[in-house]
Amino acid sequence: MQTNFSAEQLADPDVAFSEKILRKCVHCGFCTATCPTYLTLGDELDSPRGRIYLIKDMLENGKDADERVVTHIDRCLSCLACMTTCPSGVDYMHLVDHARAHIEQTYKRPLFDRLIRNLLAMVLPYPRRFRLALKAARLGRLFRPLFTRLPGLKPMAAMLALAPARLPRASGAAAIGSHAPKGGRKGRVAILSGCAQSVLDPAINEATVELLTRFGIEVVVPAGEACCGALVHHMGREEQTFESARRNVDVWTREIEAGGLDAIIITTSGCGTTVKDYGHMLRLDPAYAEKAATVSALAKDITEYLVSLDLPAAKAGEGMRLAYHSACSMQHGQRIKESPKRLLANAGFTVLDVPEGHLCCGSAGTYNIMQSEIAARLKARKLANIAKTKPDLIAAGNIGCITQIGDGAGVPILHTVEILNWAYGGARPSKLPAA
Ligand code: SF4
Ligand code: SF4
Repeated sequence: MQTNFSAEQLADPDVAFSEKILRKCVHCGFCTATCPTYLTLGDELDSPRGRIYLIKDMLENGKDADERVVTHIDRCLSCLACMTTCPSGVDYMHLVDHARAHIEQTYKRPLFDRLIRNLLAMVLPYPRRFRLALKAARLGRLFRPLFTRLPGLKPMAAMLALAPARLPRASGAAAIGSHAPKGGRKGRVAILSGCAQSVLDPAINEATVELLTRFGIEVVVPAGEACCGALVHHMGREEQTFESARRNVDVWTREIEAGGLDAIIITTSGCGTTVKDYGHMLRLDPAYAEKAATVSALAKDITEYLVSLDLPAAKAGEGMRLAYHSACSMQHGQRIKESPKRLLANAGFTVLDVPEGHLCCGSAGTYNIMQSEIAARLKARKLANIAKTKPDLIAAGNIGCITQIGDGAGVPILHTVEILNWAYGGARPSKLPAA
């Protein structure tokens, strides 16, 4: 694509980076075929190619974001299916990140939109606040019918619908500190405890610690970790994102210097995509660029790391049909496609691919709150596709997807690592019916 940025505009490193991305796009439109919002809404401006044109026009002409641009960029899930499809290697992720930051700086959203975004940014990344908010949501449910009727408050209704009726308690198995390996030490890793996941489903981190220590890996759960930043990053809040990134880089750098780390293990693929991008985010910060690049290189999804441990074959899954739901951040964001399925098959499960598996389930961070109608349509499509496989259970590697599709699947949905921990000697997950 031809671009016409001035030398002055290109002096801004973010604009220069985006210009290189724009130049790679050859307008072929292949990406439209796999874009969930284009497939759902049928509007070219809700396709990757359409959004690329909107972003180009906004940046090249030095325009503030307007309502039209904001509408179509807000509808983008950041699922990155377009990047998997694009034959020209267009880095849509960093382009839309730039657009979102530009929108945040130049566009004044309507009052309720601003209030809800502020609320989400102030609550979701902080486990204590999130836990309190989920408790308050029990009372808030009484007002859900009212919120549903008021267009500006639909996100509140969506938020209340997603809040679980009961919150599980953490067992302490993934408490802050060092968890010693069983037998001789074969490796040492840190895990990202996460924010929303640690509240919604602490069993995921607990299974991770149990499984890794059983196979001889020391697991450090460092004090002082922050949310990875993904939730606010998707809102265009760069400074808040970078603040989280710097804090985590500091925490993990201390661990690297104290005892060395073979990997930084991440159990939510949405967070994995973000942590693997810290090197890019902080590339212009001389105090952090190198450390952030080291952290990004060490970041591994739990399944990537488990494959490197060469686990023996197991029989726990024999006779069970397991549908594997590949989160967008797993398959498109991190390009991890086969490892989770290989691990589950090795544990004895009959692993089933979900038809249209490349399409997002509609979770996408806070998307199912802010764009609840599109998210509901994508959820229904995903559930129908999963049902075609006739599974006994579903595995996924992202808490957002687990929350989004869990209540409508009709069969248990678990994190891949919970299933593997059970297959390799851990307790049977409580979400599974008794054998
Ligand atoms: S990230 Fe997903 S929703 Fe956004 S343009 Fe690409 S394919 Fe479409
Ligand atoms: S597939 Fe790639 S090159 Fe083609 S229009 Fe989409 S982003 Fe541009």
